[in-house]
Amino acid sequence: MKAAVLYKPGDLQVTEMTAPEPGPGEVLIRIHACGVCGTDHSLYVGGFPAVFPVIIGHEFSGVVAGVGPGVLGLQPGDRVTVDPNRVCRRCEYCRMGSEHLCENLSSMGVHIHGADAEFCVMPETNVYKIPAHVSFEEAAFCEPLACAIHGVELAGIRPGDTVLVMGAGGMGNLITQLAARAGAARVIVSEPIAFRREKALENGASQVIDPLKQDVEAELRKVRRIGADVVFEAAGNLKLQAAAVHLVRRGGHVVWFGCSPSDGRVEVNPYYINDAELKISGSFNNPFATARAVNMLAEKKVRVDNLISHRIGLDDYPQVFKLFGGPDTLKLMVLTA
Ligand SMILES: [Zn+2]
Ligand SMILES: [Zn+2]
Repeated sequence: MKAAVLYKPGDLQVTEMTAPEPGPGEVLIRIHACGVCGTDHSLYVGGFPAVFPVIIGHEFSGVVAGVGPGVLGLQPGDRVTVDPNRVCRRCEYCRMGSEHLCENLSSMGVHIHGADAEFCVMPETNVYKIPAHVSFEEAAFCEPLACAIHGVELAGIRPGDTVLVMGAGGMGNLITQLAARAGAARVIVSEPIAFRREKALENGASQVIDPLKQDVEAELRKVRRIGADVVFEAAGNLKLQAAAVHLVRRGGHVVWFGCSPSDGRVEVNPYYINDAELKISGSFNNPFATARAVNMLAEKKVRVDNLISHRIGLDDYPQVFKLFGGPDTLKLMVLTA
């Protein structure tokens, strides 16, 4: 089969390799669409620990092409999406209901082979059927949407809240939609790229701010003098992560959602965090949220079609990192079938 393999940071090649076979409890999937994630870019530039060589990609959909012994709920021809995180279900974290913190976590496209390929295998327990009216491209958003659902849940948004989202990439746009659906009275989005600000407005932002031309704090305080109830940092930018602490109100909640460099450091003032009783949360992966992501797409409660800026074939995968982060780039979708 054809696959986009990352041999080491900066060295990605589309090559032929042997297709995997499903073991006991595993499902073989013919991949149709796979979205490009900020994590893929971090892997490419070397900012994210991984096991090389690895087939990149983890946001995908496809069709069941075969099943291993013991698979009960799926059969060839089923249209599916996948939670790409393989967990052990034996460690203490798995057994306390925190599977995303599994001590033996293997994530597709990071520790085990991913989905920018013609085929992959995953345990049946990670595979979710998608309804006929949800396209493969839409279903490829289930993983990032499930991560956004987890982040929005952690944030504890209350009806009427003011929410600030910093960064309107794919994740920022999904968080914006979910925050509005969670009842936020205002979802203010700060984003330096004009194309992305337009998308944020299409996706339910009540107001957008260009941080290169406007003072984010001043604009925010015009609508909410005391600051936002919840601030999402959705860019993985260390400066924004530090700034978020001073944009949230006293007693508010900062969610560091973006994936920052693994050796990054942010300076915060513990006295202020204590005095203002701030909550700062990380948000990692998508525990128990994939089925709900499928439901939201099935019922059209979240819009993803307008987030795809480019569609490319697997052979052209090396183009991905030239387009990534560009002024007219949002979600890049790799079409494999
Ligand atoms: Zn992702
Ligand atoms: Zn575990």
